[in-house]
Amino acid sequence: MSDNIIKRVLILGSLAIVGIIAVQAYWLLKNWDIHDKEFDQSVTIALRNVAQAIAKYNNTDVPKKNLIQRKSSNYYAVNVNSVIDANILEDYLFQEIDNVNLNIDFEYAVYDCLTDDMVYGNYCKLENNKKKQKSKKLPKLNDLVYYFVVKFPTRESYLINNMGTNIIFAGVAVLSIFFFTYSMLVILRQKRLSELQTDFINNMTHEFKTPISSIKIAAEVLNSDTNIKDNPRLNRYSQIIKEQNQRLNDQVEKVLNVAKLENDNLKVKKENIDFKELLDNVLEAQELKMERGRVTLDYKLNEKIISADLIHFTNVIFSLLDNAEKYCEQDPDIQIIAEETASEILIRIKDNGIGISKENQKLLFNKFYRVPTGNIHNVKGFGLGLFYVKNICLAHGWQIFLQSEPQKGSIFTISIPKPTS
Ligand code: ADP
Repeated sequence: MSDNIIKRVLILGSLAIVGIIAVQAYWLLKNWDIHDKEFDQSVTIALRNVAQAIAKYNNTDVPKKNLIQRKSSNYYAVNVNSVIDANILEDYLFQEIDNVNLNIDFEYAVYDCLTDDMVYGNYCKLENNKKKQKSKKLPKLNDLVYYFVVKFPTRESYLINNMGTNIIFAGVAVLSIFFFTYSMLVILRQKRLSELQTDFINNMTHEFKTPISSIKIAAEVLNSDTNIKDNPRLNRYSQIIKEQNQRLNDQVEKVLNVAKLENDNLKVKKENIDFKELLDNVLEAQELKMERGRVTLDYKLNEKIISADLIHFTNVIFSLLDNAEKYCEQDPDIQIIAEETASEILIRIKDNGIGISKENQKLLFNKFYRVPTGNIHNVKGFGLGLFYVKNICLAHGWQIFLQSEPQKGSIFTISIPKPTS
């Protein structure tokens, strides 16, 4: 994943998280508010009914003003202004709270209006009422004028219970946020590791370049020495040093090219190149390299010039030719075909090699992908060649296609759009 994509995912993800948190918080608060208002309404209705019932029992009227006052979120004072029989009050409270469908425990206390002293209080559990058990005999206080207060100690948990689905949704949102944050941390850690890996490969291959150049010069000196030339055995060894050093150099170049791709600093410098001349040169070099088989060029283009990055484009053609030779069990018969349609130039590299199955074709251009052959790899490689080829084609704005069947050979086709005049 490139730096830009990760940055975009991080920014969009963080915005999404902030958005989810804001929406969830808004809905939770709003719902809490609605449930609290409902709760307040029900309690007010129930307490008003209790006050009226007590007044009726005492043959008095309820006060017109300030009958019920909400002193705090879960604490109500009811100014009955008449004698309160605690027995009757508790019964009425149970009955009216039940009538408004409030399934909640409560605590009440009766106060003397003149002295503000508490005369009686009790904690009432709803279950007790359901079982129709009177908790105890209450004292009857009929010579004083009282007000009573009711407190709902479990109001918060009652409201939370009533907000069931909202809380579940909020929980799901919190889980998603955790999951997303965790995924982002894993991606960042993976990215860091992959950067370290690329840096390491990059530095290591750079370090290889100096000794390879020194060996190359030394091998050339050895090869040109007449004493060695005259001795067939030494001559053979110095040739081996030269060839193997060249091979090592090619491999290091490949890894370096891919490391450049990874660092996002791949910039193709397009220039007008003589395509026919380039292909002729490539053909000649490839023929020299090949130990068996042949390679031919079928040039059917009218034009000679195309716009491409000379070095990268040459590497691409060589990579495809190398593969065509490597992955062939018989003597390779490789064709380079350059042809055109009305809108595009097509360069085909056709071989008579082992071919590639449909499943593997989909993965072939992935980094490090090699067609599985169990543990036996007769042909050595890193699985980087086609990854490089594909990226260079994309950087030029070209496309690459593959037609292949196992044991029937492969055709890699690069399609270069013609400039619109
Ligand atoms: P490498 O050759 O270093 O393994 P490449 O990226 O060039 O890496 O190729 C990836 C894989 O694709 C190879 O391992 C091989 O299995 C398969 N492959 C590539 N070119 C051909 C071809 N012309 N014919 C058959 N198989 C091929």
